[in-house]
Formats: sequence, structure tokens, C-alpha cells
Amino acid sequence: MRDMLRKRVLVTGGAGFLGSHLCERLVQDGHEVICADNFYTGTRDNTLALLGNPRFELLRHDVTFPLYVEVDEIYNLACPASPIHYQHDPVQTTKTSVHGAINMLGLAKRLKARILQASTSEVYGDPAMHPQREEYWGNVNPIGPRACYDEGKRCAETLFFDYRRQHRLEIKVARIFNTYGPRMHPNDGRVVSNFIVQALRGEPITIFGDGNQTRSFCFVSDLVDALVRLMGTSDAVTGPMNLGNPVEFTIGQLANRIVALTGSRSTIQHRPAPADDPRQRQPDIALATSTIGWKPVVELDEGLALTIAYFDELLAGRGR
Ligand code: NAD
Ligand code: UDP
Ligand code: UDP
Repeated sequence: MRDMLRKRVLVTGGAGFLGSHLCERLVQDGHEVICADNFYTGTRDNTLALLGNPRFELLRHDVTFPLYVEVDEIYNLACPASPIHYQHDPVQTTKTSVHGAINMLGLAKRLKARILQASTSEVYGDPAMHPQREEYWGNVNPIGPRACYDEGKRCAETLFFDYRRQHRLEIKVARIFNTYGPRMHPNDGRVVSNFIVQALRGEPITIFGDGNQTRSFCFVSDLVDALVRLMGTSDAVTGPMNLGNPVEFTIGQLANRIVALTGSRSTIQHRPAPADDPRQRQPDIALATSTIGWKPVVELDEGLALTIAYFDELLAGRGR
């Protein structure tokens, strides 16, 4: 007989950075996990620790096509997340967010399964409200280079709430803020991975703009914990819910921390700021704290040290 506490869980994008950590957590918790990924930015290597496990199954699948599996819960994470990757094929990015959401919502509807969407702080665009609260509707340029991602994710949120209103689906929408940790892609251009790789190689640290723009960085284990807690809430809890670390740093401060922690001799080099680069980003996590009793516990230096150790090993394996 099936153990009633053991669930069958689908994780789309499960071979990516966040997805692979989430799959590990769910398998550790005793669940059966199906990971569906087209390996656009994720890799089989990210799931190596799970590949021989009988409770883990890896499917090569693109979420813009229908998927027929039988599960109790769905975490929809499939989508390239870094600006370099999502702007490489912007039409595919929008399709992944929008068609992917429709297919996963159709699957959830057929199965009466609970479904969680990995949305993003990018739905707030370059925010005019600081820190960002869930009530804020955002300031997104609909025709700029980030729009394929931002508007794709906004439309996915719309679809989640319409499936709830129209078909009474059990939905959870997480608005994830900048998250970092081991298994970030070394070449995806995100600031933490870029700075660590540059510092370890002794190359100049590239600060875009004046370095006074801010971000708030959440370590991956904290974020995964929040996703699992959100999925476990009652039907009344839909979000959208901000998930991220509210401790805000400037990009200049981040560069200095990484140089100090790696003991690198890298110098700082300023480059032009990219178009539509948000000046400030910091989550208000009052809703998450009151609803799921969550707040991040890993401090920046501790999380950076773990991430630096990962990249150090990865680069050593590649001969830098
Ligand atoms: P990632 O690029 O490492 O992971 C995304 C995964 O989705 C990859 O494994 C990729 O191969 C897969 N994928 C892409 N298109 C697909 C498709 N059409 N069909 C199937 N799989 C597909 O990025 P991540 O940082 O792990 O992000 C995971 C999710 O979390 C994304 O939806 C992202 O938008 C969201 N998110 C991440 C952050 C962050 O800071 N990491 C912040 C906000 C939101
Ligand atoms: N879908 C899927 N797996 C399922 C059920 C549906 O991939 O198990 C897809 C299906 O291809 C459809 C989408 O989800 O395009 C939306 O399904 P829904 O039932 O909401 O809409 P409809 O099928 O009526 O267009
Ligand atoms: N950034 C930077 N140098 C880099 C990569 C990024 O200064 O090598 C800046 C970028 O301009 C932005 C911030 O760091 O202001 C965060 O960038 P990332 O792409 O990691 O995330 P997002 O802009 O999506 O928050």
C-alpha cells in the first residue's frame, strides 16, 4: 500500500539550480520525484546525487508541450532565469512561461493536484515602491529586453489566478528574489557567480554601472525551505508571496565581500549599466513570516563561503 505521507511530486526545471536542490529536499523528505527538464540551462550533472535513487525519475521534456504524468503536487520552475539566458531566445522564454504555465495548469486541473509557480521579483520591474510588497503592481517596461521574462512571468501569474477562479485549482505563487548558491551556472552572467568566478581566476571584477544599485541575496537552502512550506499551506493560501532575504547590499559591497572571502587580488572594473537594470530590490517578507513562519537563516558570508567552495572545485576540475 502507498504511504499516505509519501507524495508523488513533479518538479519542472528540476535539473536547474533551484530545481535540483528542491528535488533533493523532496526525495530526502521521502517523496517520489519526477523531474521534467529540457536541459536548456540545467544539466543532468545537477541531478547526479539523485540519479540512482529509485524515488527519482528524470524526464527530458519541454514544458511548452503537453505532459501526461500522474502526480499529487507540481512545482513549476521551468524557465531560464538569468538575463543572458532568457534574452538569448526571448520568444522561447515567453513561450516557456506562458505555454508552460498553461500545460502545467491543465495537468493540475486534470489531476486535481496542487501547483506552485516559481514567479519572480522581476514582476515588480524597476520598482517605485521600496521595499517591495505583494500589493505593489510593478513598473515593467513591456517592450524592453527584459520583457520576455518579466511579462511572461506576469502572464503566468494571471493564468494561475484565472485557473483558480475558473476551475478552483489549488495554487501557490512564490515571487522569488535573487537566490544564490552551489550549482549556479558559471557563465550565466548573474552577479554572484560572475564575481566569484572572476575572483577565483584573479580576473577583474566587473561592476555594471556605479555599483550603488542594490540586491538582497537569499541562500538556496533557505529558499527551498520556503517553497516546501508554501506548498504545505491550506487551500486558502495562494500568494503571491515574496520569498527572499530582506538584507540589502549594494553591488559594490558584494564585490568587496567576495574579494575578501576569496583572498583574491582581482581589481574592480566598471562597465556600463545594462538597460532597465533595477536600481533597488529588497523583499518585504512580512507575509511569508506570518503565513509560513519563515525567514532566511543563512547569512551572506556563510552562503558565499559555501558557494565559493563549489566554484573552486568546479573550476579546478576544468583547469580554471
Ligand atoms: P535555471 O536556469 O538554473 O533553471 C531553470 C531550469 O528550467 C533549467 O534546468 C532549464 O533547463 C529548465 N527549462 C528551461 N526552459 C524549459 C522548458 N521549456 N521546458 C523544460 N525545462 C525548461 O534557473 P533557476 O535559478 O534554478 O530558476 C528556477 C526558477 O526560479 C525559474 O522559473 C526562475 O524564473 C525562478 N527564479 C529564480 C531566481 C533566482 O534568483 N535563481 C529568482 C527569481 C525566480
Ligand atoms: N495538459 C497537459 N497534461 C494534462 C492535461 C492537460 O499537458 O494532463 C495540457 C493540454 O495540452 C492543454 C493544456 O494543458 O493544452 C490546458 O489544459 P486545459 O484542460 O486547461 O485546457 P483545454 O485542454 O481545454 O485547452
Ligand atoms: N551585475 C554586475 N556585474 C556582473 C553581473 C551583474 O554589476 O558581472 C549587476 C547587474 O547589473 C545588476 C545586479 O548585479 O544590477 C544583479 O544582476 P543579476 O543579473 O545577478 O540579477 P538581476 O538583475 O536579475 O537581479
